[in-house]
Amino acid sequence: MESASIVIIGAGAAGIAAATRLLQFGFLNVLVLEAENRYGGRIHTIPFADNVVDLGAQWCHGEKGNVVYELTRDLDMLASAHDQLGGYSFVRSNREVINGTLTAKFKTIVSNIESKIYEELEDYEGSLGTYLTESFWSDLGPLGKEDKTVAREFFENYKKMQCSMDGSDHLFEVSGKGQLEYWDCEGDHNLNWKDKGYRSFLQLLMKADSNDTTDLGVLRKHTRYNSHVENIKWQTQEGNVRIRLWNGELIEADHVICTASLGVLKETHPKLFTPPLPNAKCRAIDGLKLGTVDKFFLEFKEPFAPANGTGFSLLWREEDLLALRNSEYFWLEGLFGFYCVSYQPRLLEGWIIGAYARHMETLTEAEVIKAVLWLFRKFFTNEAPTPVRFLRTRWHSNPNFRGSYSFRTMYAEELRIGSADLATPLLDAKDDRPLLQFAGEATSTHHYSTVHGAVESGWREAQRLRDFYQAHKAPL
Ligand SMILES: Cc1cc2nc3c(=O)[nH]c(=O)nc-3n(C[C@H](O)[C@H](O)[C@H](O)COP(=O)(O)OP(=O)(O)OC[C@H]3O[C@@H](n4cnc5c(N)ncnc54)[C@H](O)[C@@H]3O)c2cc1C
Repeated sequence: MESASIVIIGAGAAGIAAATRLLQFGFLNVLVLEAENRYGGRIHTIPFADNVVDLGAQWCHGEKGNVVYELTRDLDMLASAHDQLGGYSFVRSNREVINGTLTAKFKTIVSNIESKIYEELEDYEGSLGTYLTESFWSDLGPLGKEDKTVAREFFENYKKMQCSMDGSDHLFEVSGKGQLEYWDCEGDHNLNWKDKGYRSFLQLLMKADSNDTTDLGVLRKHTRYNSHVENIKWQTQEGNVRIRLWNGELIEADHVICTASLGVLKETHPKLFTPPLPNAKCRAIDGLKLGTVDKFFLEFKEPFAPANGTGFSLLWREEDLLALRNSEYFWLEGLFGFYCVSYQPRLLEGWIIGAYARHMETLTEAEVIKAVLWLFRKFFTNEAPTPVRFLRTRWHSNPNFRGSYSFRTMYAEELRIGSADLATPLLDAKDDRPLLQFAGEATSTHHYSTVHGAVESGWREAQRLRDFYQAHKAPL
């Protein structure tokens, strides 16, 4: 164990979890290679407005069975974000704020559907989109013409918000049954990191100095940035693994744990791995999907809440939507709302999904701000103040991510593949030694798309190596 050399590709949550656990187990020769010039991956906390914002993961989703929560529960690091989440309004594109009774009715219907989803999807063969559409309209019952129009607008908005949770372009590509494979952690689903951001969790894992955002703690001597891995030769005559970096440098290892995102694997696996990955692995990479969810942060001089709540969801009337689709701002259809942020009173955070988000990423920041201000004026009578600062994410454009988080597709059902196929390690034919292992959120069977899933996957692969060495201990 002391001499075994292990290379981990990626210093995101999975890579950091794997590396820190391997060091704890007594492995000494551990090296993390990270393409970016920072640690964290899809956890990216940066200073903004009154303290920090999270460009990627923002909340700890749940308590029971959530390793992130379990590690931090006694440390007073987390706070409930409920004050910021419940009380948002629904505003139509004619500037009408939907009345409370109607909003409450729609919200109750979708929350009832969500609470019975686990029983009802058991034998369901269709997509999540089909299931939610059928359930919403049947549970809604008869409505007058005008309320029905608003119900349709509400449901269109709800589906986009749901896409932002699943990471999908639309809900008709999300497997209904696949939802059951994801295990919710009971408890508060939106715990935030106060004014410190999600980075503070990684600092805890690494035992890093919490006042120094660059400190790598126990990984200090084990991490290299700007180290993009171009190729992993996982079958060599010598029986080890050979890694080639972007600058031609070669690194030999006994084991490689690859934590690159599913988006990166999709784009690069034919040239990243030599020999090519086995068919079962390629099918898993092909069948699962990493969608795009992006954020906007608008910092105002003073707190700004135009609809007098904790935010507002945008409902497009049919005629306005048709006009929007024929305009340069067509991509705003994917932006479903702006919401207040805990511990950041002067911020609004907007969310955009799917193909619309990918288009937004191709625009300049000036073009995006112009469009967002146009949207504000369209939805609110009072002149929206111009933000003093603006920020948007571009998770898809970055070749080290190519998206936001993974989900189980209808196509994965068709192929009969899942996260477990992605997680299966490739072993040495002679002694079953794990040569090439896979970790990362998309390899988590029950907690994919989350940080806690990513952390568990890193620990899983560290444990696999420990088990291997314990089973192969030399006799005294
Ligand atoms: C906008 C957004 C919001 C989110 N919100 C939440 C949330 O609120 N709660 C939650 O639990 N989760 C959330 N998530 C998901 C969560 O961030 C991810 O599931 C988790 O961080 C993934 O960690 P990972 O280690 O699997 O992958 P990553 O963080 O992607 O780490 C992989 C690392 O590998 C590096 N890499 C890739 N290719 C190479 C290469 N060839 N050579 C070297 N290095 C390479 C990358 O640069 C990256 O640092 C969110 C994600 C996004 C994008």
